[in-house]
Amino acid sequence: MSIKNNLNNIKNSLPENVTLVAVTKTHPVADIMEAYEAGQRTFGENKIQEMVEKFDSLPKDIEWNMIGHLQSNKVKYMAHFVHLIHGVDSFKTLKEINKQALKHNRIINCLIEVKIASEETKFGLSITEVEQLVTSDELKNLKNINIQGLMGMASFTEDKSIISTEFKTLKTFFDSLQKYKSLNVNPTILSMGMSGDYKIAIEEGSTMIRVGSAIFGTRNYN
Ligand SMILES: *Cc1c(COP(=O)(O)O)cnc(C)c1O
Repeated sequence: MSIKNNLNNIKNSLPENVTLVAVTKTHPVADIMEAYEAGQRTFGENKIQEMVEKFDSLPKDIEWNMIGHLQSNKVKYMAHFVHLIHGVDSFKTLKEINKQALKHNRIINCLIEVKIASEETKFGLSITEVEQLVTSDELKNLKNINIQGLMGMASFTEDKSIISTEFKTLKTFFDSLQKYKSLNVNPTILSMGMSGDYKIAIEEGSTMIRVGSAIFGTRNYN
């Protein structure tokens, strides 16, 4: 199967309201161009440096999504072009994104990462912490960010009922977030689902899936 075929098969199976982020981490520019030529414009990377290098050498109508865990001190390298940042899990990071966005006279779209998996290693805020964040007075001062919704990763398990339950929890919380809508909180995006679980995620209400290996094949980290 080619990248183009993989991409088209997935795209054709998606409901109209679901956006596909093609996750290109570790894959070369030539592979990204193959997806680009097949019409894909939304791509995701999990390391800022790798995303910056790819941004520099690829067409400028690509919408780059940062899907990895963020280090505040690196936000400045992508602030001039990043389209959507998925993995925000602290007020400190939001403040830094706001500061860098202001320098470029931009508003940067962000998703708050919520910890839904039971595994200890996953990043993200608890539901209570997200509620505190979106209702805090300090957030009102961050005029150069736009919180567009939530992102979550389910447990890495074969047990589909666990994955469904975790996604369901996130969707319920996402719906309840509508009551906090404000100038910089506009929840319209629910980013959940990867190659292994995006079908379950869509059943549970995902509006954005992040798919890498099902399009580009397995990753080689060497
Ligand atoms: C790598 C990655 C993906 C894509 O994973 P696949 O299993 O290859 O689809 C999705 N989300 C995040 C946060 C990732 O780091």
